[in-house]
Amino acid sequence: MRVVSVDKVRETVRDLYKEACVIANPELVQAFENARATEPSPVGKEILTMLIENVELAKRENLPMCQDTGIAIVFLEIGEEVRFDRPGLVDGVHAGVREAWKEAYLRASIVKDPLRRGNTGDNTPAMVHVDFVPGDKVKIRVGAKGTGAENMSKMKILSPSAGVEGVKQFLLETVKAAGPNACPPLVLGVGIGGNFEEVTLLAKRALYRDLGKPHPDAYYADLEKEWLDAVNRLGVGPQGLGGRATALALHIETKPCHIGALPVAVNIDCHAHRHKEAIL
Ligand code: SF4
Repeated sequence: MRVVSVDKVRETVRDLYKEACVIANPELVQAFENARATEPSPVGKEILTMLIENVELAKRENLPMCQDTGIAIVFLEIGEEVRFDRPGLVDGVHAGVREAWKEAYLRASIVKDPLRRGNTGDNTPAMVHVDFVPGDKVKIRVGAKGTGAENMSKMKILSPSAGVEGVKQFLLETVKAAGPNACPPLVLGVGIGGNFEEVTLLAKRALYRDLGKPHPDAYYADLEKEWLDAVNRLGVGPQGLGGRATALALHIETKPCHIGALPVAVNIDCHAHRHKEAIL
């Protein structure tokens, strides 16, 4: 068994969360540039230029690229040949988020109780998802998810007879209803299959695939292209002010499901699309 230090996990979560909030991934900047090159709307072009300037400014000044530094979403893929040097792995993740909040002046955006509210004051707890995988490594993926886009995300259990067209219609209705509130241009994670709780997690995982990397199954890779094109013909455009660039990428993730159901979830991410990963 390989021993991994919980403190190393904490430090890595801290550094990834700080970096995610401040430094845009190069493929996101490239996607802004590609969208600007093909955007027919002058206002849309101007907004895409502002978004490029915003990420450059954030990097140069070491400041968050958006005031909503989000809820921290942490995916841990733990190799089955790994053991940790002490108990407290999940607490270590929360501590990493707390340290990032303090060191990078991130916004405290989490309340203690959904109805009675009351800010926790340090942006914890994080949402932590753990998977066990073969091997002796620990993969840590950290997302900073702003709530403007999260609030416009939706799930529904369709009848199986709705089929592929039913899923596409649900996707288009969801993006149209989101309009400017999700801060487009968007990244769209579409989960299909599983069950009530699993389908939303599929959609979330889909968001954090490398931007624009196609699904390994050609059938779904074709659907990703077709649906992204359909989304970009809705006319929502950058910041919802009209234009083509409503979404920069669309990723589908699927799972087997019950014969009587067709679960679907659309998790929307805004243009900030902040996530980083590391392998220990
Ligand atoms: S949805 Fe994204 S871009 Fe819009 S305010 Fe929230 S974090 Fe910022």
